[in-house]
Amino acid sequence: TFFLNDKVALITGAASGIGLATAKTFLAANVRGLLLVDLSQERLDRTLLELSSDERQRCQCFVADVSSEAENYAQRALELWGKLDIAVLNAGIVHAPTSILDTDAKIWDKIMQVNGRGVFLGLKQCGKVMTERKSGSIVITASQLGLQGSPSLAAYGASKFAARGLALTAAEEFAPFGVRVNSVCPGPTITPIIDALKEDDGWSRMADQCLMKRLGDAREIANAILYLSSDASSFCCGTSLKVDGGYAKF
Ligand code: NAD
Repeated sequence: TFFLNDKVALITGAASGIGLATAKTFLAANVRGLLLVDLSQERLDRTLLELSSDERQRCQCFVADVSSEAENYAQRALELWGKLDIAVLNAGIVHAPTSILDTDAKIWDKIMQVNGRGVFLGLKQCGKVMTERKSGSIVITASQLGLQGSPSLAAYGASKFAARGLALTAAEEFAPFGVRVNSVCPGPTITPIIDALKEDDGWSRMADQCLMKRLGDAREIANAILYLSSDASSFCCGTSLKVDGGYAKF
């Protein structure tokens, strides 16, 4: 049941980090069709280069800013393969660390635009396609910072509480239509998004916070996303799955 034979999936933020690792994991799990959604054709072209020709044949790309209402990637998956079984709403951004007192409201708006509004719009379009067909699984990439306070990352942390909250609400609204919605809450994971936090020993301080005393690998998050996406998690609905090496202590 960890295999995705005959399933059609889409992943937003698929050109880097956790999204890219998830794409590779889904392809290894035999996904039939995979729509890779990201900001630019150039990023997506680079992603395709990392795949084998068999894998590339099962992929299509869709350039989109997830915070724009004009971009309907769920509809595109439907046009390409006639259905959509799995949607991983993963695209996200972070801001440079600052206290609330020093954070400009423009930063707040930008983060909420992508991490909040982007997930909301994704739920609307994927939810529509899936509830009509009365089947589907949606996974939202939240964060362990959507479970606890996030000193110096207030806007990011709040946006991840929003993403996790949206997953809980969508789980309630879509469950009667056979659609499951869950979120994954990664701890600090080595991807380009945390490059900005590398300075001043940021990485070793984060690693030290983890019970496992190391940062995560994107493939470790992708495995959890595979579980929540696949039929292996058929009784998970509204779950927030913490995958953080013991960063959050509850
Ligand atoms: P990343 O920067 O490597 O990848 C993010 C991808 O999202 C990029 O390819 C980027 O182009 C894309 N993206 C950004 N804004 C977009 C938009 N408006 N529309 C479409 N695509 C957009 O980062 P990552 O670590 O792989 O992050 C993936 C998700 O995981 C994010 O939601 C992030 O908040 C979350 N997360 C990451 C960590 C971590 O430590 N890496 C921890 C917890 C949660």
